[in-house]
Amino acid sequence: MKITITAELLLHYQRCKLRTFLDVYGDRSLKDPYTDFHRKLLQQRLAHQEFVLAEQMGQGAPLHYRPDYPKGNFHEGATATIALMEQGVERIYQGVLLNGVDASPRQDFILVSQPDLLVKQPGKSYFGDWIYVPTDIHLGKRPKQDYQIIVAYHTQLLASMQGAWPENAWLILRGKGAYEVDLWRWLPTMQTFLEECMQVLAFQQEPELFISRQVCSLCPWLTQCHTLAKSQQHLSLLPGVTPTRYRHLKTLGLTTLDALADANPVYLEPELESEVAQYIVQQAQSVRDVRVILIPSQDVTVAVALPIAPVELYFDIEAEPELELDYLLGVLIVDRQANTETFYPFLAEAPTDEALIWQQFLDLVSNYPTAPIFHFSNYEAETVKRLAQAYHTPAAEVNLLLSRFVDVHKLLTEAVTLPVESYSLKSLAKWLGFQWRDSEANGSQCICWYDRWLEEGDRTLLDIIIRYNEDDCRATHHVKEWLVNFLL
Ligand code: SF4
Repeated sequence: MKITITAELLLHYQRCKLRTFLDVYGDRSLKDPYTDFHRKLLQQRLAHQEFVLAEQMGQGAPLHYRPDYPKGNFHEGATATIALMEQGVERIYQGVLLNGVDASPRQDFILVSQPDLLVKQPGKSYFGDWIYVPTDIHLGKRPKQDYQIIVAYHTQLLASMQGAWPENAWLILRGKGAYEVDLWRWLPTMQTFLEECMQVLAFQQEPELFISRQVCSLCPWLTQCHTLAKSQQHLSLLPGVTPTRYRHLKTLGLTTLDALADANPVYLEPELESEVAQYIVQQAQSVRDVRVILIPSQDVTVAVALPIAPVELYFDIEAEPELELDYLLGVLIVDRQANTETFYPFLAEAPTDEALIWQQFLDLVSNYPTAPIFHFSNYEAETVKRLAQAYHTPAAEVNLLLSRFVDVHKLLTEAVTLPVESYSLKSLAKWLGFQWRDSEANGSQCICWYDRWLEEGDRTLLDIIIRYNEDDCRATHHVKEWLVNFLL
């Protein structure tokens, strides 16, 4: 069997070796379906590419050509791309590069990539007095290593197709313009990754899984991997165990939950700092024994910082990062004396309403000048600073407001270790028995629903977002109440 290594496969290999393996050998029926958020990201990338191309043409760049070929047929795609290169067209959009149209250097692999643009430059190639250089267009603002390695991959394939090495290669980054990739630096790294990747695939060596929230959250194999990790009690499910720390634990032979839970933290030093070692071992004990562990000497400090007031405010925000918009400021008012709980959703039905909801929020919280404002993690405080600056709120007013903020996440993580996989609000509150009313709702999905509201005007979507935001406020309340009672 010939294995096709696309640029996408190589990109995944850099982030998770197992993903590449599963993409080739996994049972596709076990993949998670695409979510609205995945679709949104893909559409955003395409829209951004179209925007960049239109902008370039507006500045005088020549027309770009796209090779015509049946979807997924890389051989015909490469043939059509070569035909365009032979004609010497100035720019090729989404051309197909293949390592040898008829044969690949390794019998078992076909190397394929699709740079966003191939741009003609003076030079000598199989086609005449011109060569092509590759460019990728990204939504990101930073020239990440994996982007640069993929451009190096395009470069290598392009060199074999046109018989000449491109002298440069480019990334176009959002809001930053063109960034030249240092090919001398990244070609050797890319070749190492490619060799390794081919080894893993050729010998069918299934890499070990490692659940990392950052890497796995958008991976279609997540349900399968998570189920497996749970059944193995894999240490990557412990908060605080990063890939680097895990490698160290393996060198010490601490590869099981029991082994780590029973380890003396000193044994993990000095590679791990004393605090980190304590934290990881304690986390393992908490998960193994399914118990809450008080962090020594912190409980009193936390109890003092965790006020119980007659009226308390719980605050949560929904944002649309693409629009740089905080469109929902939700506040739950818990009045202990009146025994009432009232939720106020300040919602920007149009992006231009952000100033209005900010003022509505300020008016509400000023009605309760002594009430603490509980929130979960630092996003709310950071957003208040941003909104205050954007809408010229007096510094004294904002500082007074921020002095009432209490970060429940910070206090909880300083006080206790819980048997959870993550200290996110979702994970913690669920473990403590709280249920969200809409099981499908989450922050990413709300972004998609809000975008659809803006496009389609379906008000039921706003209702779901508001309910989700209210549940986030109630979950923060739930966690805070639990912590107060636990520390009593
Ligand atoms: S879910 Fe995570 S561990 Fe599994 S394949 Fe995807 S990125 Fe890798």
